[in-house]
Amino acid sequence: MLIGYHVSAAGGLHKAIAEAEIIGCTAIQIFVGSPQVWQTPEVDLAVVKKFKGALSKSKVKKVLVHSAYLPNPASHKNTLRRMSLKKMKEEIRVAYAIGADGYNFHCGSNQNSNEEGLKLATETLNRLAELSDEKYPIPLIIENDAGAGNRIGDTIEELAQIWRGIKNKKRFGFCLDTCHLFVSGIDLRTKKDIDALVKKFDKLIGIQHLKFIHVNDALFELGSKKDRHALIGQGYVGTVGFKALLHHPKLRTLPFIMETPYGGDSKGAISSRIKELKFVKKLAR
Ligand SMILES: [Zn+2]
Ligand SMILES: [Zn+2]
Repeated sequence: MLIGYHVSAAGGLHKAIAEAEIIGCTAIQIFVGSPQVWQTPEVDLAVVKKFKGALSKSKVKKVLVHSAYLPNPASHKNTLRRMSLKKMKEEIRVAYAIGADGYNFHCGSNQNSNEEGLKLATETLNRLAELSDEKYPIPLIIENDAGAGNRIGDTIEELAQIWRGIKNKKRFGFCLDTCHLFVSGIDLRTKKDIDALVKKFDKLIGIQHLKFIHVNDALFELGSKKDRHALIGQGYVGTVGFKALLHHPKLRTLPFIMETPYGGDSKGAISSRIKELKFVKKLAR
């Protein structure tokens, strides 16, 4: 199965592969630069070569790039949307250069209304695809949000609304984050809940467009809108729901990527992930 973590690329992108190998990942997610800044590192061919070399020798089969935190495709401010578009395009360029399997991002927030946010996000995403279709044609992956404040794209209905407005549908796909689903009010604690989620996604969007899953337990309750991830089985979702998720025939073949917190100190961090991954693989058996 394809499973792993968001791993650190501090000290060079190839370092992410080294960490993934120690933990035992077959799928990973990375940032291609600091997620807190607007600048994106230029594509450095030596770095790309190092990354691809390490990747080809590793067990990692899927690489997802997560966008920086700053872009807001749904913003009511023109300048912010323009900056977001530029930033996302730059990151897509790097993601494409390193041979990533997708570029994952959130739809953002809008201070006026959800309706306006959905409309503007759809416009920004269509433009993003147009600007990168020819040169950097990697899949653009829309992640569901936890839905706090004015953030959009937390319900399947909102994701479906964006999807209906997407022009080049071949270019796009979705990533569902279990913590975000849960805190936005979608229960995942039983097999029945997981079945209902898959059914709903299939009906409103089409399950074939779901490309990745972020597997995170939730530190806060159902509907709390608080986006804090917990270790698998140690949060409010719990092991029954995750077991059903990992076993669902329509989800099982997708890459599962955990963004759970590192446990322990910097040394214990990796060993806590090794332990957690073993635990999740056991649930998936
Ligand atoms: Zn995310
Ligand atoms: Zn996520």
